[in-house]
Amino acid sequence: MSNAGDKSGSIVKAVRGTRDLLPPDTELWNRVEATARAVFGRYGFGEIRTPVFEATELFVRGVGEETDVVSKEMYTWEDRARAASEKAQQLTLRPENTAGVVRAYIEHKLGETGHLRKLFYIGPQFRRERPQRGRYRQFWQIGAEVIGPQSSGSESAIRDAEVLEMLASLLDELGVKGWRLALNSVGSSNDRPRYVAALKAALEPLKATLCEDCQRRAETNPLRVLDCKVPEDQATIDALPKIADYLDEASTAHFAEVKAALDACGVAYAVEPRLVRGLDYYTRTTFEFTVPDGSGLGTQNALLGGGRYDGLSEMLGGPKAPGIGFAIGEDRLILTLQAQAQEAAAKKLDAYIAPLGAERNAAALALARELRRAGLSVEVGDGSFRLKKSFEAADRVARRVVLLGEDEVTSGVASVKTFATGAQTKVERDKLVELLSVE
Ligand code: AMP
Repeated sequence: MSNAGDKSGSIVKAVRGTRDLLPPDTELWNRVEATARAVFGRYGFGEIRTPVFEATELFVRGVGEETDVVSKEMYTWEDRARAASEKAQQLTLRPENTAGVVRAYIEHKLGETGHLRKLFYIGPQFRRERPQRGRYRQFWQIGAEVIGPQSSGSESAIRDAEVLEMLASLLDELGVKGWRLALNSVGSSNDRPRYVAALKAALEPLKATLCEDCQRRAETNPLRVLDCKVPEDQATIDALPKIADYLDEASTAHFAEVKAALDACGVAYAVEPRLVRGLDYYTRTTFEFTVPDGSGLGTQNALLGGGRYDGLSEMLGGPKAPGIGFAIGEDRLILTLQAQAQEAAAKKLDAYIAPLGAERNAAALALARELRRAGLSVEVGDGSFRLKKSFEAADRVARRVVLLGEDEVTSGVASVKTFATGAQTKVERDKLVELLSVE
């Protein structure tokens, strides 16, 4: 408190990479969280709240020492003993929540009922990353885990498909447009060492040609090379061995079952052989949902990620408890919804019909009815407007203007101007819908 009396007048600001969430934005945060709770409830999930800080060892053992998250990004401190009865401890602000949930599962013997556990959480996570749009040092995740003893069906591919179908439903219910599901299998603890060995061998003669990060990863954690975004490295990395060729029969069958179940419930996905994700605990199914460019996330287009972690409980000293889960980046979800809402608000109508002269008003209305019935969005001007005023009004609200003068009415050929290109064309009435539908 030595600065308490400092009257220098400088303002204390929020720490770099952290943000205040203010109204009206918080309304959207609350709506998103309420929708997530409602959807999770329909699938039988219950809420879990774990501490914001945990023993550092939990993340070292669970997430993996060689991951970027653990090796570079954790907020860790030595918590000194205050009394003789207390031990000093290494503590860490949680960088993710799965390890905490699995620790709680073990600690409270949640597996002893023999049933599947379905738990969700909503809360802040902390990583010392380079802040940018969509990437913060304190960020929120909405996540869920399905975990239980093998006898509860926790290892079944149907669990994976159900979690993915739930996410598809949640994103649709929230109104996220254009999301894309990328899917892969990283194999079991049986397959992974064989693949990593093959990858390491393939990288050995090539690594000198790759970026500096990849040269290091090739040694410490070859799987991470697949994540590289450096353009010059892509061709080399695409030609590396694929994990699909190293899956054993059981993992191949498991992945095929996940895909078949998704096909059966109509959830679209794209298999991406390079999707391995940043945390070590993943086994078999891994996935990521992204949104298209222009959805407000810049280069951070991953909305959420997750996967199966069949060995995590054992890594943390617990019983065998296969599981699958995901974490949605809530900050990114909100940015996406805001950007997409803005885009929708700014979206122009397909056409503005400009009757040239009051005697063309009725014909304009008839044409508007025809176009609207064909599914187009249309506004009608007024025959009393001068041509210039019609063009200005049209440009404000629509992508194209359809001019309706005497010629057009008698000949059945419409004059259409496209504002984006400035092109003006004459088009037969039966081709009009087609032309106006072009974005
Ligand atoms: P991960 O826990 O790394 O699998 O990340 C899951 C999701 O959390 C990502 O897809 C992002 O949407 C989000 N996320 C991860 N790190 C950050 C961050 N630093 N800032 C904002 N969102 C993040």
